[in-house]
Amino acid sequence: MKCPYCNFEDTKVVESRCAEDGLKVRRRRECENCLKRFTTYEAVEQLPIIVVKRDNSRERFDRKKILFGLMRACEKRAVSMAEIEAMVQSVESILQNSLDREVKSSFIGDLSMEALRRKDEVAYIRFASVYRQFKDVKAFMDELKNFLDERK
Ligand SMILES: [Zn+2]
Repeated sequence: MKCPYCNFEDTKVVESRCAEDGLKVRRRRECENCLKRFTTYEAVEQLPIIVVKRDNSRERFDRKKILFGLMRACEKRAVSMAEIEAMVQSVESILQNSLDREVKSSFIGDLSMEALRRKDEVAYIRFASVYRQFKDVKAFMDELKNFLDERK
């Protein structure tokens, strides 16, 4: 990092501090030539995730969509906002850790369903019925049966 005052190449870090939930680091640096101090910010590069929808159109990933979907499914259930946040976080980090920048919306739906299934049965079934867009009662009953079988 060059000194902004004298352009000298070598500066040393005199202090580091985390900012914004640890996603940014603020560093106080000192120029080894003119001894002036300045501040730099270091941030994690967050690449955008692109969601490919059923009709093949694309849009930027928006965590609020998962959040609202899960909130709707968990309405009047014993699931706290903190637990819903944690589910959204777990889905998002799986996507962030993947090398693929494009993900299918169905994959995000599956991850959300999986997170719900471990948390609350009723919320899971509600979410599944909206998300899977069951064509008829039979399709819904099949999904329900699979769910009940897996629990045994
Ligand atoms: Zn300097």
